[in-house]
Amino acid sequence: MRCQLSAHDEDEGEHFGLLTDTGAYGTALWLRWHGPDDAQVVMLPDCPMAAPGPDGDGCRLFADHTAQHTWQDAVEEVLYAS
Ligand SMILES: [Zn+2]
Ligand SMILES: [Zn+2]
Repeated sequence: MRCQLSAHDEDEGEHFGLLTDTGAYGTALWLRWHGPDDAQVVMLPDCPMAAPGPDGDGCRLFADHTAQHTWQDAVEEVLYAS
């Protein structure tokens, strides 16, 4: 399981990996861990933030996550490429 949070210190804080998003609407099951022996399954609401613009991507993380929204990487790549 890989951590899905971008741009945070691997040695600090909590890591999150998506298990399944087929649960109740607007929620997903995540694995949360601090270290290899300390993992919990948690159900979290989806992050409500979408990229700006009429067809902006939705964020694929959970509400109140740390680090960037998943679409922010793509936005920055576009900005740096132009
Ligand atoms: Zn992490
Ligand atoms: Zn987000």
